[in-house]
Amino acid sequence: SQKLAQARSEGKTTFSFEFFPPKTAQGVQNLYDRMDRMHGYGPQFIDVTWGAGGTLSQLTCEMVKVAQSVYGLETCMHLTCTDMEKSKLDEALKDAYQAGCTNILALRGDPPREKEKWEATSGGFRYAKDLVKYIREKYGNHFDIGVAGYSEGCDDNPDVDQLVDHLKEKVDAGATFIVTQMFYDVDLFIQWVGKCRAKGIEIPIIPGIMPISTYAAFLRRANWMKVNVPPKWTKALEPIKNDDAAVRDVGQVLVAEMCRKLVDAGITHLHFYTMNLEKGTRMVLEELDILPDAESPQQKPLPWRPSLGLN
Ligand code: FAD
Repeated sequence: SQKLAQARSEGKTTFSFEFFPPKTAQGVQNLYDRMDRMHGYGPQFIDVTWGAGGTLSQLTCEMVKVAQSVYGLETCMHLTCTDMEKSKLDEALKDAYQAGCTNILALRGDPPREKEKWEATSGGFRYAKDLVKYIREKYGNHFDIGVAGYSEGCDDNPDVDQLVDHLKEKVDAGATFIVTQMFYDVDLFIQWVGKCRAKGIEIPIIPGIMPISTYAAFLRRANWMKVNVPPKWTKALEPIKNDDAAVRDVGQVLVAEMCRKLVDAGITHLHFYTMNLEKGTRMVLEELDILPDAESPQQKPLPWRPSLGLN
């Protein structure tokens, strides 16, 4: 967050990339190569999601270590708390600490399917705020701690106002930044940020941006996350839905427009859900014209006007 504050004071819009642990060894190597290339775009940090289950969670720790200490990327490790043993959690935090990682995105994780048998795991973790508190108690201020925000409700709670109250609890427990679920409706997002600010949530709010690869994936993700698709988007994309290249081109313009609107509203950092792909994210950054190039090797500033004072 110090780096974010510095970029903000320079009036720069910054960005970050999220990756997830791939299932095969070849996939992991390909991803390292891609992460290394995308390092050249100048992200403020990269995230590695927490892969639920034994092997994938080990891979998250391994990837954080490699990204941080071999590729020199500022790394943020996602960590969930209700779906695994406390000893695993301690190990993951220790690994991150030893790798020089100083950012954790603290999450609850998905609840077990048989809800009637649900009990908190040993260690008393029931909600993400319990993990935030635990990390603060154990590691003081070593880690910047992020938490998840939902501008249009989440899977098990559609009540946006109640979720803002629960978000405030996570902030009060010691979170220092918020990353949101993906969305397409900027107006709803801006309204929600206003609600958060009115509740006294003052830490940076980082919108999660999902580039568009195909029409089917675009719709599927909106349905999964139960987020609104503004009519303008459907009108632009539906007629070309069978032409993937055209969908990507139009999608890039729509997503870049959305990013500009966010920046104009005072948002200073954009978080890209890369889905482990380079192209979609690169296209949006090109459309925004903030990628470094031979003439300007430093990331170009995207001027922002904090007109609504959201950040
Ligand atoms: P919480 O903030 O704990 O909220 C969970 C539920 O509990 C909500 O319904 C909330 O309203 C309710 N609640 C909270 N506090 C209280 C209270 N005091 N009283 C009553 N109810 C309460 N999952 C993964 O497995 N791996 C990942 O890497 C991962 N990364 C993610 C990244 C982002 C940016 C986001 C948005 C989600 C991610 N998830 C990931 C999914 C996440 O684990 C699920 O959405 C999970 O169901 C909720 O996690 P949370 O941290 O938001 O939980």
